[in-house]
Amino acid sequence: MSGSMMQRPLLISDLIRHAATCHADTEIVSRETDGALTATTWAEVEDQSRRLLAGLRALGLGEGDRVATLAWNNHRHLKIWFGVSGGGMVCHTLNPRLAPQQFIFIVNDAADRAIFFDKTFMPLIVGTKEHLGSIEHFIFMGSRDEEVLAALPEALFFDDLVRSEPAEWPVLEETAPCSLCYTSGTTGNPKGVLYTNRSTLLHTFSIALPDALDLSAREVILPVVPMFHASAWGVPYAAAMVGARLVMPGPALDGDSLLALIDDQKVTLALGVPTIWMMLLAAAEASGSKMESLRRNVIGGSAAPPSMIATFRERYDCETIHAWGMTETSPLGTANQIKGKHLNLDADALALLRLGQGRPPFGIELRIVDEDGAALPHDGQAQGALQVRGHWVVARYFGKEESALSPDGWFDTGDVASIDADGYMTIRDRTKDIIKSGGEWISSVDLENIAVEHPGIALAAAIGARHPKWDERPVIVAVRAEGHDPDEEEIRALYEGRVARWQIPDAVIFTDAIELSATGKVLKNRLREQFGDVLLERGV
Ligand code: AMP
Repeated sequence: MSGSMMQRPLLISDLIRHAATCHADTEIVSRETDGALTATTWAEVEDQSRRLLAGLRALGLGEGDRVATLAWNNHRHLKIWFGVSGGGMVCHTLNPRLAPQQFIFIVNDAADRAIFFDKTFMPLIVGTKEHLGSIEHFIFMGSRDEEVLAALPEALFFDDLVRSEPAEWPVLEETAPCSLCYTSGTTGNPKGVLYTNRSTLLHTFSIALPDALDLSAREVILPVVPMFHASAWGVPYAAAMVGARLVMPGPALDGDSLLALIDDQKVTLALGVPTIWMMLLAAAEASGSKMESLRRNVIGGSAAPPSMIATFRERYDCETIHAWGMTETSPLGTANQIKGKHLNLDADALALLRLGQGRPPFGIELRIVDEDGAALPHDGQAQGALQVRGHWVVARYFGKEESALSPDGWFDTGDVASIDADGYMTIRDRTKDIIKSGGEWISSVDLENIAVEHPGIALAAAIGARHPKWDERPVIVAVRAEGHDPDEEEIRALYEGRVARWQIPDAVIFTDAIELSATGKVLKNRLREQFGDVLLERGV
């Protein structure tokens, strides 16, 4: 027997239709690539995305075709997202920070037929064009531009395409693909994750909930996290669902620009990776701004250092929601919000609880397993390989036949974590980054969090350096903050009494810069190549 309720597919086009119907005049403010600030509305985003869809169809593109973007977070990018995905095509967000070889690999692997690009990325397009064999249409995100035509005579223009008569949204299967994002691939070639309309809609419902990101039509949301990094954590979709005002930062991601945007646009919620917040906090400190409108921020992508969470709370009255996720999980897997039973905790206990990565929303299940795959207890102590399953978790990578899952249907995240009896998860490390000293594990995340508490340290990474007796020993690689000159012993002294004696780093190496991945994460394998032998060289 089946029930007797309406059965309607869950579609991306529903999100933008809803925003245009119920939040027609709610603004989307956008920093353009030339620096100008523009404003549009949800109604206009819907209208132009349907015109864009018609324009793309006129070029011969149809359902299932991959349409790539190489773009900042701006209003045209938003219209492409809804027009392409809502129209049954696949919006493939490309990360412009990748090395050209990886970029070429990804475009070819996805067999993208069209590519939209911001002016910033024209050199990348022109420089790699002859290797992008599948691309039939290069579409500049702007109006007709002679400079673009001189470099790329075949270029088409977004603003011409949206002059078409608006198309009607097609009714698709909810399992139809809508977007494609490649993992950052620090080892081996990047792999594609092909999201469905259904997985995206369920993820969108979920991230808007009070115990996740707590989104509503009363928020002014600044997604600093790029739309090419795990779909800006799903925020553009969720903003349409709840009718929030969106502020798109474009290319200006430095601390001063973000600070000005937050203060001028009265941003209430901003989202980004820890390196962004370091720059923002430095800018706020220098200018004296209290960022009064900013009530909450979401930190994810890498572990949020406790000192950063404390600074936001104590100096800016801004509550940090620490969140964890992956490209493979759409991306939200957990968010740190408290429960009723925590309301009476004292400030210190509450602060401690808020440090971890939080608990999964309904729709995501977590478990930790040992090296033999046996499930470990959720007691807050046991550490194991973190595995996940749920409605918005990858089942197999794009173009691959084989499953990405364990035989019993779980996805292995590559993270090491503990989970407590209330469901709160704490990431201890990446499996490949954990430091293995004399058979014991040392969390590189814990060591990094202590180093960056020192005002003289701008960025720190802990790695396992080769050791003749212990196999690996912890070493801190650090970048000094401007105007500071901490020395090795001063930093090592921070660890006294904070970690077990055998976990105290053997050395602190200062360097001018630490290379970050295309999604803002420290490239630990590079650091291991560079500094992995430092203890042997020192003759330990
Ligand atoms: P990506 O798919 O590029 O977003 O990378 C996903 C990986 O980023 C995860 O498997 C974690 O290793 C790491 N990650 C994401 N969020 C956090 C967090 N809040 N704390 C620690 N690591 C994180």
